[in-house]
Amino acid sequence: MPGSDNRMNLVPVGLVHCSARTRKEMPPEGMAGTIEVFPPYRPALEGIEEHTHLILLGWLHLASRDLLKAVPRKISAELAEKGVFALRSPSRPNPISVSVVRLIRCRENGLLEVDNLDLVDGTPVVDIKPYQAGGDCIFSATQHDRSEKIAKMDPGAYRADLIREAVNYHGEWCPGAAVAVRLAIEATRFMGGDLRRKDVVLSPGGDPCISDALIGITGARFGSHRLDIAVPVGTDPESPILFSAPGIQLRCLVRVHGRDPAEVLSMKADDLFCLQFTREKENKN
Ligand SMILES: [Zn+2]
Repeated sequence: MPGSDNRMNLVPVGLVHCSARTRKEMPPEGMAGTIEVFPPYRPALEGIEEHTHLILLGWLHLASRDLLKAVPRKISAELAEKGVFALRSPSRPNPISVSVVRLIRCRENGLLEVDNLDLVDGTPVVDIKPYQAGGDCIFSATQHDRSEKIAKMDPGAYRADLIREAVNYHGEWCPGAAVAVRLAIEATRFMGGDLRRKDVVLSPGGDPCISDALIGITGARFGSHRLDIAVPVGTDPESPILFSAPGIQLRCLVRVHGRDPAEVLSMKADDLFCLQFTREKENKN
């Protein structure tokens, strides 16, 4: 911009404290940690405890600033290169991160205990804002077909993504949400990839927790004709859950309810649910 001074003065208002020192040490689901807000900025915390979630802007001090294209290597080195504005890569001209964290509590001395933190220890914080579900959550937002990305992803990282999507929508990590995550992993395989694809229709069955979590994972909505309620949710938790796409259908009957989420994650698929996959051709015979 000719004639203008492009300098922008940012001051760190705080610092991240957590047990991950490098990006490699950061688990895909993030971790609990503390934001230390520096003394001059502590009056700005007034009222913050009324919010369950915060938007955190961090300065990714370890990232390079000269990359304009990158491969999302943390997912797979085999994925195609993209521009950094189309990626969540830490490397970018201004290495500012935007993340949504859950506020556990606001302690004395400007310490915010948070969860779902994805910033490494020592990251400077440049701003904190309240997350407002009504305005900030765009549930109808769509993205590219992630089928190729999911196929190349580490299974643990994919599961962590599904857990986050399930909890973000449902509001708690409970046995039903865990069943939904396990079911989504199987359905991803049977349905040939990304469950957020436009042609994947969900009929979520009768269990309220499983239904919520599957809606969060698939992004299915009535308005996009991807959500089909066959039975009123809450009436019959035993009713089948269906995933359908042109020519194919996966029918799932959940065998167990009410177990601990960690136990659900470790159980054999056959013990958890009964799956029946059909193709249209097979139906006609
Ligand atoms: Zn629940």
